[in-house]
Amino acid sequence: MSEHKLQVEAINRGTVIDHIPKGNGIKIVHRIQKLSPHVRLTVGLNLPSKDMGQKDLVKVDDWLFSEQQAYELALFAPDATINVIDNYEVVNKYKMSLPDTLEGVVPCPNSNCISHNEPVQSRFKVFPRGEHVSLQCHYCERTFNDSLFT
Ligand SMILES: [Zn+2]
Repeated sequence: MSEHKLQVEAINRGTVIDHIPKGNGIKIVHRIQKLSPHVRLTVGLNLPSKDMGQKDLVKVDDWLFSEQQAYELALFAPDATINVIDNYEVVNKYKMSLPDTLEGVVPCPNSNCISHNEPVQSRFKVFPRGEHVSLQCHYCERTFNDSLFT
């Protein structure tokens, strides 16, 4: 039995987010809890990974997310794999993908940014940086590392 199978087969129905950069699993959990506070989660941190050395993994019971929600999660796991599980089988599997822009997902970390004082949605240009992401604010034009977003 493969390592991968062992890690995903424990839930009956739901979503397994695999290949999350080590350390970002907790951020993914916080995001999911904001989107869906009562969902049941199982988290694996610092699991061995052939490609990544170590990785985090999050299993979510009975929950499938929308495209917008996937974008929010992609901020913290741009190369993660989504496994959709039904009746203990992987019925769909795809890679998380980063959008070119993020709107209204996370606030600008710059407290002086005009986006905090105007009735506008936050808006960022997205720049992938390997396992991480930089975001450039449309309003203050500052660029932020993903570690500034929680
Ligand atoms: Zn800004």
